Amino acid sequence: MAIIAFIGVGNMGGGMALNLVKAGHEVWAFDLSADALARVVAGGATAASSAADAAAGADAIITMLPAGHHVRAAYETDLFAAAGADAVLIDCSTIDVATAKALGEAAADRGLAMVDAPVSGGTAAADAGTLTFMVGGPAAAFAKAQPLLATMGKAVIHAGGPGMGQAAKIANNMILGATMIATAEAFVLAEKLGLDAQTFFDISSKASGQSWSMTSYCPVPGPVPTSPANRDYQGGFAAALMLKDLKLAMAAAQGAGASVPMGANAESLYQLLVNNGEGAADFSSIIKLLRG
Ligand code: NAD
Repeated sequence: MAIIAFIGVGNMGGGMALNLVKAGHEVWAFDLSADALARVVAGGATAASSAADAAAGADAIITMLPAGHHVRAAYETDLFAAAGADAVLIDCSTIDVATAKALGEAAADRGLAMVDAPVSGGTAAADAGTLTFMVGGPAAAFAKAQPLLATMGKAVIHAGGPGMGQAAKIANNMILGATMIATAEAFVLAEKLGLDAQTFFDISSKASGQSWSMTSYCPVPGPVPTSPANRDYQGGFAAALMLKDLKLAMAAAQGAGASVPMGANAESLYQLLVNNGEGAADFSSIIKLLRG
């Protein structure tokens, strides 16, 4: 069993850390929020007094923080210096590709094994240990991280070198944002043309309009009973997080010189939705904006 430092035990990190505890690992947790820390301590983790304190002597250091600047500061200020030579460093946060690449390369320069390992799946998957991890980093670092990630998830996929986990995550979520908007638009059009929503679903979900947005998170109530539309768009994947991922995709596209007109439109529409005060609602609530 390993000693694991877990920095950032909020909505996602809390459940992930508890799954490591349940698997028998010794988890030293640190978070700026006393409430977040208390939840994992109640579940069997040990509270550390700082990120450096958590990391000293750990076999693995895992971070699950809000954004790139938090992650950069955590590694550059504390974690690179505190990490033991054999420790594996795993950042599971969703951050910009450029920062993930730079940190992976800085770790390698110091002789440390590091991967970026962002997740697909929300808090329910974090609690249940059914996340999907998209991992960027050297093969040797991936091999060290893989068993721990497998404890917290149902799939662990090596995407390539440093930053490629983040690249996979934002490219995937750019598809998700765009297909949700296209799906919601189509349901609004069908509605205005007098076509019954269930009938349209029965046809399109078996025809070429089918997508995950339609068959798992259908933006109208009824056809998919588990979709957030059936509970007034509560729970699910928050529109504000979709906007965050689309902004990361746009920044990466600009840096790489990629043309992403659908992604850019999706970003503008999710920005409008968030400006309308719908940031906490599931991202399928974009249909409200399209209804006008
Ligand atoms: P959160 O705000 O609930 O948790 C982040 C935690 O980090 C907070 O408890 C905060 O106090 C702590 N923190 C911030 N700075 C810190 C520091 N310097 N040292 C120690 N702790 C610090 O956010 P979350 O929903 O758990 O998301 C975490 C990451 O996972 C984000 O990058 C997010 O984009 C990504 N993500 C979230 C979801 C989701 O559904 N919530 C899904 C996929 C990916």
